[in-house]
Amino acid sequence: MSPVFRFAPSPNGTLHLGHAFSALLNFDLARASGGRFLLRVEDIDPVRCRPEFEAAIYQDLVWLGIAWETPVRRQSEHMAEYRRAVERLSSLGLVYPSFESRAEITRMVAEREAHGTWPRDPDGAPFYPGDAKLLPAAERARRIESGEPYALRLDMEAALARAGALSWTEFGEGSGGETGRIAARPQAWGDLILARKETPTSYHLSVAIDDALQGVTEVVRGQDLFHATSVHRLLQQLLELPVPDYRHHRLIRDAAGHKLSKSTGATGLRELRAAGADPADIRARIGLP
Ligand code: GLU
Repeated sequence: MSPVFRFAPSPNGTLHLGHAFSALLNFDLARASGGRFLLRVEDIDPVRCRPEFEAAIYQDLVWLGIAWETPVRRQSEHMAEYRRAVERLSSLGLVYPSFESRAEITRMVAEREAHGTWPRDPDGAPFYPGDAKLLPAAERARRIESGEPYALRLDMEAALARAGALSWTEFGEGSGGETGRIAARPQAWGDLILARKETPTSYHLSVAIDDALQGVTEVVRGQDLFHATSVHRLLQQLLELPVPDYRHHRLIRDAAGHKLSKSTGATGLRELRAAGADPADIRARIGLP
């Protein structure tokens, strides 16, 4: 079976050198191994994602010399599949709705932190501080019926009990240099949000599902997503999805050593192109042959 690679940008901005590194690395690895290279547009956030960014991404990838299979999978076109997966997890008793607003959660966390520490996930977001897991089923149903906004959370304790110990094979390295067989630690994420009333999915859920549906066998992405792989392994196990191999690659940093962000003009591909750079210059700058 030939390996299947993918590059999965979110069209909430234009591409920078960090994206170029990830896209070219995937493309080069696919070529060198006689594998396939797929593109996936992660556009589940209708507020931040825009068609003009998506168009700009395609242009920049073509300019870099990258070619991909069509049709491109656009996550916004697959909400029904994500909804079905959430329903399946719900039917296993692994999901509960919580009704606090973001502001309420911030206030609850501040109260807890005033009396000591409160756990945070690997992205720095506080664990859910509420007790919605204890709400009786009738009360949950009543509040959803009445139109209240809600988030659907994974009951991490129940999910861990069902899934058991999980691991993955890492061919790159985590932020601490971890490689080889890695023990997953999804508990580091607490009762994370799988879906919201207005968006029937989340980054973690759609990535886990799409990698499986697209037949991806090699997930090559930045070290900043190393810890997210623990959640993806958990969701794969719960939804009985195949498990790809992972390679988390180094991050391209700016002169001050910071991870690049969408707004960093000086390292944007469009800006570099306008300043006269060609694709060979881009490869040289990010250390690719
Ligand atoms: N869409 C994610 C991003 O742009 C990448 C997802 C992934 O590679 O798993 O950061």
